[in-house]
Amino acid sequence: MSAAAQEKIDAVQADAENWSAEDVVRWGLAEFHPHAAIASSFGAEDVALIDIAARVRPDIRVFTLDTDFLFAETYELIGKIEQKYGIRVERVKSALTPEQQAAQVAPALWTTDPNRCCALRKVEPLKATLAGLSAWVTGIRRDQAATRANAKKIEWDKSFGLVKCNPLADWTWDRVWEYIRDHDVPYNPLHEQNYPSIGCTYCTRQVQPGEDPRAGRWSGFAKKECGLHAPE
Ligand code: SF4
Repeated sequence: MSAAAQEKIDAVQADAENWSAEDVVRWGLAEFHPHAAIASSFGAEDVALIDIAARVRPDIRVFTLDTDFLFAETYELIGKIEQKYGIRVERVKSALTPEQQAAQVAPALWTTDPNRCCALRKVEPLKATLAGLSAWVTGIRRDQAATRANAKKIEWDKSFGLVKCNPLADWTWDRVWEYIRDHDVPYNPLHEQNYPSIGCTYCTRQVQPGEDPRAGRWSGFAKKECGLHAPE
């Protein structure tokens, strides 16, 4: 970590735990815009976060990891968000097309080695994008998964070497939905069909009553994260 980044984080990290989501976004954008961007997979948290950030400054940067395997509903939602907020979402793609991956690595890689598939289609493209930024803003919440339980609202991301802001870290799922309804934020209709967490079509299924909200991701594998949000 650079001394300057260390100083910035040390100065606010403890206080930031008492800040609102809007306060965290405001700090991140004041410090780092235009070298800060929201990473969005267009789940419920992410659309709420975009709405909050767009109220702080309308020219926010938003990018998404477009694996080429997203649901049609997700692609439609990206278009709706762009229209509503007047932004252009940066689509970050893998260096390999799906056809190249099938030919050069393995066909249907997600069925045999989802970690490798996520590395090629998500982690490596993310790494390249974050290399050009000083801070990223995410919609992760502590109660989403054990791997996210220790997320701070403002922290140093050791994996990727930049500041990470998690404005919704202390939000509950119910609070996310209250925000979406109160502010009329567009959301993915799949959430109403028992998909609380939505990723690629091949690796996302509906959850059953009583299941963990992330049980529908990489079902059948121990994997629960793409590798984007490594716990500290
Ligand atoms: S979620 Fe599945 S299909 Fe998408 S990149 Fe990861 S392994 Fe591949």
